[in-house]
Amino acid sequence: MPAYYVMLGAPGAGKGTQAARLSQRMGLPPVSSGDIFRQNLREKSDLGKIAEGYLSRGELVPDDVTIAMIRERLAQPDCVRGAILDGFPRTPPQAEALDGMLAELGGKVDAVLYIRARPEALAKRLAGRWVCRAQAHIYHEEFRPPKVLGVCDVDGSALYQRDDDRPEAVAHRALIFLESTAPLIAHYRGKGVLVEVDGEKPIAEVTESLMAALPEQA
Ligand code: AMP
Repeated sequence: MPAYYVMLGAPGAGKGTQAARLSQRMGLPPVSSGDIFRQNLREKSDLGKIAEGYLSRGELVPDDVTIAMIRERLAQPDCVRGAILDGFPRTPPQAEALDGMLAELGGKVDAVLYIRARPEALAKRLAGRWVCRAQAHIYHEEFRPPKVLGVCDVDGSALYQRDDDRPEAVAHRALIFLESTAPLIAHYRGKGVLVEVDGEKPIAEVTESLMAALPEQA
């Protein structure tokens, strides 16, 4: 039976960083909705054209578009054993759609990994975040600097700062998290699948807490 894990947390909580680390430990692909949108933007695909305005304003792309994109991604061969979802679901309708699509794939949401961090910590992380062009590896100028300034340690590509990490967009994204995504915390807690960890600990410690809290099959 495939295993599916959902990373939940405000922008800057460390979902992407932890999804990449858990992916290595568990041998499941990370599926980041934000990365897929950004890749489509770069490729100027039809999906990219639809998503562009929403991303630059720090707003959510409409549910139907996002759900269709994730449905297609989870059907790819590399996801046969499951996936670590990063950035999806972000709204109650997306969570409901996810249940449906995972049931079709013979699975379910096995655990929701909620990474908690205070707003002031989140703002500091986003302001100092740098992302690699080629594969979206994540750095921070203070907490996780690359070996060579502006260059990805892993693949040598250039690092850039996300457009929506500007302070105005960050404030908006934080608000959207509270309004649209935070209700999912109670939803998944009620279903008994929520794992909650302190995201302000060092990166490796957060990974260990998540691994320790995961259900058996992980
Ligand atoms: P992220 O990289 O997860 O911070 O996502 C960056 C942006 O992509 C968000 O601000 C949204 O515009 C869009 N996005 C990513 N995931 C979703 C989602 N599940 N639903 C709607 N929009 C999304």
